[in-house]
Amino acid sequence: MLKHTTEAKKLYKSAAWRKCRASYIASVHGLCERCDEPGYIVHHKTYINSENINDPTVTLNHRNLEYLCQPCHNKEHHEKHSPVRYGMGFDREGNLIEVRR
Ligand SMILES: [Zn+2]
Ligand SMILES: [Zn+2]
Repeated sequence: MLKHTTEAKKLYKSAAWRKCRASYIASVHGLCERCDEPGYIVHHKTYINSENINDPTVTLNHRNLEYLCQPCHNKEHHEKHSPVRYGMGFDREGNLIEVRR
């Protein structure tokens, strides 16, 4: 797992990332690449983890980036990290249940 607090923060605060991010957003005209709504976050197609966080070919590579709006970004992460739809989950016995937030 990523030591999110330190290494990821360092990346997202770096001048190199800011420049990369800004030029990427400009290259897609500030629109979500999936639905053409105004974008919100630059997503890494290859998710950043503790092994690749210092690898600029992953973190600062335009080919690994996708500009997304918040709903599309949520969907992307939710679908990859969870076997079930938003609002559903598993209880401790492994039964599918509805989750309320
Ligand atoms: Zn979108
Ligand atoms: Zn993402």
